Amino acid sequence: MKLLVTGGAGFIGSAVVRQAVGEGMEVVNLDALTYAANLANVAAVADAPNYAFVKADITDRSALDAVFSDHAPDAVMHLAAESHVDRSIDGPDAFMATNVMGTFHLLEAARAHWQAMGKPEGFRFHHVSTDEVFGSLGAEGMFTEDTSYDPRSPYSASKAGSDHLVRAWGETYGLPVILSNCSNNYGPYHYPEKLIPVVILNALHGRSIPVYGAGENVRDWLYVEDHADALLTVVRKGQVGRSYNIGGENEVRNIDLVRSICAILDRLRAKDAPHADLIEHVTDRPGHDARYAIDPSRIRTELGWRPSVTLEDGLEKTVRWYLKNEAWWRPLLTREGVGARLGTGLGN
Ligand code: NAD
Repeated sequence: MKLLVTGGAGFIGSAVVRQAVGEGMEVVNLDALTYAANLANVAAVADAPNYAFVKADITDRSALDAVFSDHAPDAVMHLAAESHVDRSIDGPDAFMATNVMGTFHLLEAARAHWQAMGKPEGFRFHHVSTDEVFGSLGAEGMFTEDTSYDPRSPYSASKAGSDHLVRAWGETYGLPVILSNCSNNYGPYHYPEKLIPVVILNALHGRSIPVYGAGENVRDWLYVEDHADALLTVVRKGQVGRSYNIGGENEVRNIDLVRSICAILDRLRAKDAPHADLIEHVTDRPGHDARYAIDPSRIRTELGWRPSVTLEDGLEKTVRWYLKNEAWWRPLLTREGVGARLGTGLGN
């Protein structure tokens, strides 16, 4: 199977690319290289004969047509997106342009390619989405694939819009689409503006660790390499027209997650005072969803996938990775917006 992966220089896309290339699949990585991208994330596979990189924007239809015609992929794994909720609140335009219109252009380019190829049955358009499209849960219940959409941030609204487009292209044109909606990812190569890297890097710099509100919001966390494995399982074995919820079965309150990271840092690095002393509660994010939880029964029973890394082990691996890879994260601290966000913001 020849894969076209969009957003393959980002956090999750690069994990998919590294894994797929490592497994011997032919991979074309299409990425516009926005602020969130980093080709260092795919340096390990950059010279592999089964890997190619194309710098292109998914809102540029002619560039997309050229990629489909040059590489003739058997499957598209669509991860390119604006992905940071706080940025979507400060400036939603780019989220609409990339997540909604970019997905539309990619669907149209994929449809034209699929039709020109004689509509092969094995073709797949796999859209990678988030559990945030389902909105916010109370103390009970979980998101299933049948949960009604109820997005509450510009980011989740743009992802919900893209999910609807993908389903519509499946129903209307017969394009063989599959969707997946996943909970929060964490792990190596996570951009330093997101919650877990913010906690680790602020702690390393002795800066206050901001926690939104009381830190009672609950998230489910999945180790990024487990997500990459789930996505490759879905694109290979998933049923056309289906969506699959992917979760880590690791629900935790933000404040407890932050304390766990601080406890790992206490063990791994000498410091006079516990790292948790740096925690500072800051004004809550507007419309902050209270709880997300995924029911992963479908992917487990139909496709036989389940996460392999516990939150405890994954957090320890992640902290150790950031301690070892300062050469990766240090240059990113001066990128646009990151310094300010490290000091005051949090997000996923
Ligand atoms: P990311 O921000 O780390 O990476 C996004 C990548 O997309 C970047 O490399 C960027 O350059 C590229 N990109 C952005 N706009 C583009 C455009 N117009 N054209 C081409 N490339 C463009 O994001 P991520 O965290 O790796 O998320 C990847 C996907 O997974 C997204 O679709 C996101 O909605 C989804 N997702 C993320 C999470 C999470 O916890 N991070 C959870 C569930 C789903």
